Amino acid sequence: MTEDSNLTAKSLKEMSDKELIKRAKKISNRYCVGNGKDFKLKHFSTEPKKTFGPEDKPLFKEALEQGVDILTELQEVLYAQDRWSLLVIFQAMDAAGKDGAIKHVLSGINPQGCHVTPFKAPNSEELDHDFLWRCVKELPGRGKIGIFNRSYYEEVLVVRVHEAILQNQKLPEKLITKKIWDQRLEDIQNFERYLHRNGTKVIKIFLNVSKEEQKQRFLERIDQQDKNWKFSSGDIKERGYWDQYMKAYEESIRKTSTKDSPWYVIPADNKPYARIAVASAIIHALDDMELSYPTLSEEEQSKLQEMKTALMEEKE
Ligand code: ATP
Ligand code: MG
Repeated sequence: MTEDSNLTAKSLKEMSDKELIKRAKKISNRYCVGNGKDFKLKHFSTEPKKTFGPEDKPLFKEALEQGVDILTELQEVLYAQDRWSLLVIFQAMDAAGKDGAIKHVLSGINPQGCHVTPFKAPNSEELDHDFLWRCVKELPGRGKIGIFNRSYYEEVLVVRVHEAILQNQKLPEKLITKKIWDQRLEDIQNFERYLHRNGTKVIKIFLNVSKEEQKQRFLERIDQQDKNWKFSSGDIKERGYWDQYMKAYEESIRKTSTKDSPWYVIPADNKPYARIAVASAIIHALDDMELSYPTLSEEEQSKLQEMKTALMEEKE
């Protein structure tokens, strides 16, 4: 998609899978942080470069459909090959569109090969363990895609913004020092490296919504009755800590984005565009695995032929 001025829904339809994957990689590269050493949030916009209007709706629809189709095909091979796993972590401020992105982008995927886990404030059993514990239990098995809707990154985001939460984590007192955030970020980086070395590719998606767009979405949730359920007064309270959150996000991304486990900072003020960019990042990750269907040995193939002959000769 979609920032080429001459691209239309029709021209997208005519592209081969190979061309579409190439496009997806190009889009995702735009938002990929890679090695985060010099990362600054202000270098990443909350809006796509081009301004889109209602006339672009068919293009968005086509691009998302194409993205979902490619994703579905790649996931089938991932599942059949049964070697790699993919963990996709979603982090964002409230109303940035995590739920919608997950729902739309994964709509075509075989549910047996994909598992979504939302992480809320930890319960007492979870607080009785180290902070990665509850996430480790939900990691995807080989051949599977795991989606974390929030994650262990909350430990360096909400917990950092509200240090009272840290005090309730039952940590031995002498471990709570000024260094704790750096230590957690280092542990996260090591954990993700460990996962990568064991065949789980981790990508992290930050849906980058602006403070103004969040306000508009909150107002919609208040004004439209069928959206009231999405609104919580706590969200307004968290909005008050916007700058602290942005600072915590910036530092987390800087210290944990690596070539193998990159962050993607995706402009989220335009929801249809954000979904296409998310699909592109996932396609990119799966394509990098160079997946292939398992092949049978000669012996297994001749056994298959024997079974075929037996089936053909079966009497009615
Ligand atoms: P939505 O609002 O769209 O339903 P959500 O992910 O915001 O999705 P909520 O139930 O509103 O879901 O919020 C979950 C809350 O749990 C968030 O405010 C998040 O910061 C908090 N949370 C998640 N992990 C932790 C953690 N480790 N410690 C403390 N709070 C956490
Ligand atoms: Mg919420």
